[in-house]
Amino acid sequence: MSFRITFLGTGGGRFTTMYQIRSTGGMLIEHDGRFLHVDPGPGALTQMQRIRYDLSRTESLIISHCHPDHYSDAESVIEGMTGGGRFRRGSVYGSRTVIKGDGGLGPCLSSYHQRIAGSVAEFEPGDTLDVDGLEVDVCRAIHSDPTNVGFRFHTDKGIVSYVSDTEYTDDIADQYIGSRVLILPVTTPRGNRIKYHLCTDDALTFVERVRPGLAVFIHLGVVILRRGPESEAGYVEGLTGVRTIAGRDLMVLDVGEELSVYQETAHDDPWIPESSP
Ligand SMILES: [Zn+2]
Ligand SMILES: [Zn+2]
Repeated sequence: MSFRITFLGTGGGRFTTMYQIRSTGGMLIEHDGRFLHVDPGPGALTQMQRIRYDLSRTESLIISHCHPDHYSDAESVIEGMTGGGRFRRGSVYGSRTVIKGDGGLGPCLSSYHQRIAGSVAEFEPGDTLDVDGLEVDVCRAIHSDPTNVGFRFHTDKGIVSYVSDTEYTDDIADQYIGSRVLILPVTTPRGNRIKYHLCTDDALTFVERVRPGLAVFIHLGVVILRRGPESEAGYVEGLTGVRTIAGRDLMVLDVGEELSVYQETAHDDPWIPESSP
C-alpha cells in the first residue's frame, strides 16, 4: 500500500488566506493509486495546475468544516471529479455546516454540486469512514465552527493524523495517541495563543503527549510566517526530541518504511490536461 500526501497549501487563517502569502489548497492524498482531496481552500486549483495533477483523477473529497481556507475551491474539485459535471461520480464527505449549513455557516457546496457528486455524506466525531478502501476515523475538535473535526488515516505503515483547526486540550490530543505522523495546524507562534487555534506552545504539549514519529506544522498564519515557522518547529523538536518540520507548499510526505519528505516539481507554464475538451 502506498500513502503519499502532497501539501498543496500550508497557509491558514484569514490573512494568510486572503493575501495568499502561502497557498491554502489543503492536502492531496494518494493511497494505492487513488486520490483523495482534503480541505481544498484557495490555491488548490492553482497548485494542482502547477504540479500537472489532473483533478479528474480525484475520487473523494473531505471537507472538515465551513471556513473558506478549507473549502473555497471545493466546488471546482467536484466539477473535476465528475468530468466537468458529465458523470455522477466521486464521494463527498463533510461536517454538518459543510453539507447542510448550521448556525449561520454554510452550506459550503451548492445543491447543484451536491447533486452531481456520486454520493454526499455528513460525518460527526466517532464515525469511521471507508474512503475508497482507506479507513478514516473522525475525531473531535474545538473550533469556532463547532461541527469541525480532525482525522486519523489508517495506513499499513501506521496512523497518519490530520488535526484540523482546534484549540488544545488533553482530551483533544489523546485522540491521536498512537499516530506515526501528526499534522498540526499551528496558526500562531510561541506566546501568541488565539482562541480556537493552536500556537507553538500548544504544539509542544501536543507533540509531547502524542510522541509521533514525525510532526508537521501547517495552517500557518501571518504572525508565525513572519517569525519563521522552521525555527518554531525546531523549538518543538529540540525540547521533545520528536522530528518536527514546518510544511512548505508542494512538499510531499511519503509514508513508507521511512518517512520521506521532498518537494514536488512545479511548472509555471500553462498545461492543458488530456481529459479536458
Ligand atoms: Zn482554518
Ligand atoms: Zn477554521
